[in-house]
Amino acid sequence: MMLGFLLARAGVEILVLEKHADFLRDFRGDTIHPSTLELMYELGLLDEFLKRPHQELHELSGQVGNETFTLADFSHLPTHCKFVAMMPQWDFLNFLVEQGRRYPAFHVEMQAEATDLIEENGRIVGVRVTTPQGQREVRANLIVGADGRHSVIRARAALPSVNLGAPMDVLWMRLSRHPSDGGQTFGHIDRGKMLVLINREDYWQAAMVIPKGASDEIRQRGLPAFREQIASLIPFLRDRVEELQDWKDIRLLTVVVDRLTQWSRPGLLCIGDAAHAMSPIGGVGINLAIQDAVAAANILGPVLMRGTPSQSDLDAVQKRRMFPTRATQRLQLIFQNKIIRRVLASTKPLTLPWFFKLFQRFPYLRRIPARLVGIGFRPEHILSS
Ligand SMILES: Cc1cc2nc3c(=O)[nH]c(=O)nc-3n(C[C@H](O)[C@H](O)[C@H](O)COP(=O)(O)OP(=O)(O)OC[C@H]3O[C@@H](n4cnc5c(N)ncnc54)[C@H](O)[C@@H]3O)c2cc1C
Repeated sequence: MMLGFLLARAGVEILVLEKHADFLRDFRGDTIHPSTLELMYELGLLDEFLKRPHQELHELSGQVGNETFTLADFSHLPTHCKFVAMMPQWDFLNFLVEQGRRYPAFHVEMQAEATDLIEENGRIVGVRVTTPQGQREVRANLIVGADGRHSVIRARAALPSVNLGAPMDVLWMRLSRHPSDGGQTFGHIDRGKMLVLINREDYWQAAMVIPKGASDEIRQRGLPAFREQIASLIPFLRDRVEELQDWKDIRLLTVVVDRLTQWSRPGLLCIGDAAHAMSPIGGVGINLAIQDAVAAANILGPVLMRGTPSQSDLDAVQKRRMFPTRATQRLQLIFQNKIIRRVLASTKPLTLPWFFKLFQRFPYLRRIPARLVGIGFRPEHILSS
């Protein structure tokens, strides 16, 4: 959507196909990072954007056993917004659609699922689309696969990928939030358990991190045992875990970390999770997808105004974005393997590791994770006026 918005703004005719009827789904992540907010500023949209309901996260904090800690402090970032805006992704996407509609070149079609690619003479020239009215073809001088970590486009294009592995999956659910709960504590960790709470004002979006493939076993142990797991980790939730009445209230999100080694073929480019599925760690996947979109618009916008991008134009996008992708995934893998894997396997009470204690002792160290999470590697900027 971001790439569509930027290209339409630059005068390129675009059509965004979205398979669902709306963006109202729970499983997308809610974090709009300082670097994305900076892009909103560069686009002149920041004030409008911040009028939307959101919470501002100035620090990243957590709790190990009974000890709380702060890992990142965004207040020193060299950006206009020194916080992460927590906004449900459907609100963010609706905002982009509304802004996009100001440009006549911007078109969005909902309930339009891309099912296959159309290839002619070794070049991708379009997609087959299924809509409520039936099937049809959409042709374009560039197809962009931005269809997420289970991308149909990348599968049909048979682009080569490497799977980097993930030791965990996530169970995703809502629990009501009371004003007395407090606001910002994020990750709660104790032996074998890890729960992340996202404050959505009237409810908590809760993410229970579980060992990869363990969801069937957890279901077999039963809902009361699962509720007890939550309540023993975060006692203030004990009075409302009964809200989880059915496994239907709890969604399994499978975590994938992978990346394409080749992001494009003639006529086709993949970006975002379709090019590199991100782990939820650091909540940076949305940000990275947006950065890809900005880089793609900067590189391909002027070319698309003149005609059809060449393979070397498409390669230039991969070249620009491969380093931030690799570096971010590298950090996510370190965190996954050194911390999450150990926490999930632990059977004894946990205490705060020495590494985290350093951040309590020397608060200025919190600026490093803040920079990595809030801005990331090689931040992009809007080049077109
Ligand atoms: C459990 C979990 C929690 C996460 N939490 C966060 C977080 O808090 N913050 C964060 O930054 N990142 C988070 N991430 C990562 C983040 O969700 C992704 O990195 C990010 O959404 C990628 O954006 P995208 O636009 O590439 O893909 P997506 O957000 O997956 O968007 C793809 C879109 O394409 C549509 N689509 C799919 N297939 C088709 C098709 N065939 N035809 C048409 N449309 C199609 C989908 O409906 C969807 O709207 C999390 C990931 C997981 C697994």
